[in-house]
Amino acid sequence: MEYKLGVVGSPIEHSLSPEIHSIFAQQLNIKISYEKFLVKTGELSSFCDHFFDNPNALGLNVTLPLKKEALELEANRSNIVKKIYSANTIKKSNESLYLHSTDGQGLVNDLVEKGITIKDKKILILGAGGSAMSIIPAISGSNPSCIEIANRTEENAKKFIVQFGESVSLHEYKLEPEVIINCTSAGHDSSVPEFFKNLKISKDCILYDLSYGSPHKHTRNWFKKYSQYIYSGEGMLVEQAALSFEYWFGKKPTTKNIIKEIL
Ligand code: NDP
Repeated sequence: MEYKLGVVGSPIEHSLSPEIHSIFAQQLNIKISYEKFLVKTGELSSFCDHFFDNPNALGLNVTLPLKKEALELEANRSNIVKKIYSANTIKKSNESLYLHSTDGQGLVNDLVEKGITIKDKKILILGAGGSAMSIIPAISGSNPSCIEIANRTEENAKKFIVQFGESVSLHEYKLEPEVIINCTSAGHDSSVPEFFKNLKISKDCILYDLSYGSPHKHTRNWFKKYSQYIYSGEGMLVEQAALSFEYWFGKKPTTKNIIKEIL
C-alpha cells in the first residue's frame, strides 16, 4: 500500500518536508506519497475531513500558522500537546485522529547529535511564540540549571512564566547564558532586534537558532561577532520530521547525512 502523507500550512512552497520524508521512506522501504498543501487559517478542519476520507491517508505535518488551530480538530491529544497547546503532527488510526508535537524533542535530539549539553547549563530562550512554547518542556526535561526567557514584547514572555511556573523566569539582562536558543522569527529585514543588543554573550556561549536559510543569516552573523559556536535549525527540522515519521509508522529512520542530501 502507498501511504498518503503531507504537510499543511501557509506559505508552504519553501517546505523541505517532502524531500526529508521521501528519504526516510526509502531507508525503511515504505511506499509513501508526501505532498505540500497550501492551507490557510480557518481551513484546517475542512481540509482534514477531505484528506483523511482517503483510506490510504495516514498523517499530516502541520506548520505555520496552523499549529494551534490543529487543537480545534476532533482528535486525541498527546501529553505534550495538552501542555503546549499546539501540534505539528496528525495521525489517523482506527478511524480516529491523534495530535502530537515533535518540535521540542526534535530540538533536544539535535542538541545531543551536536554534542551540546543542556544539563546544569544556564539557558536563555529568545522569543515567546509557538516554537518557544514547544521546546520549553523538552529543555526543562534535560535538567538545565535555569531557563530564562526574553522577548521583544515582554508581556508575551510573562505569559510563559504563568504557564510554566518556577521552571522559567524572565530574563533581566544580568545572566550570562551558556546556551542561547533563538526562537524569534526576526531576521527577514536586515536589522537586529533591539533587545539582543542588551544581552551578555560570552565567547564560549553556544547559540542555537531555530531558523534556517538565508533570510535569517543576518541574525546569525550578528551573533558571530560574540561567539564562534553558532548552529542553525536544519538539524532540528530533520529530527522533528524523524519523530513524526516514527509516530506514523512505529519505526525511526536514521537522520545522519540527511541535511547534506536536501540542501
Ligand atoms: P511565532 O510567530 O509564534 O513567534 C515569533 C516570535 O518572534 C515572537 O516571540 C516575536 O516577538 C518574535 N519576533 C518576530 N519578529 C521579530 C523582530 N523583528 N524582532 C524581534 N522579535 C521578533 O513563530 P514561531 O515561534 O513558530 O517560529 C519562530 C522561528 O522558528 C521561525 O523562523 C520558524 O521558522 C522557526 N522554527 C524552526 C523549526 C525547526 O524545525 N527548525 C520549528 C519551528 C519553528 P513578539 O512576541 O514581540 O511578537
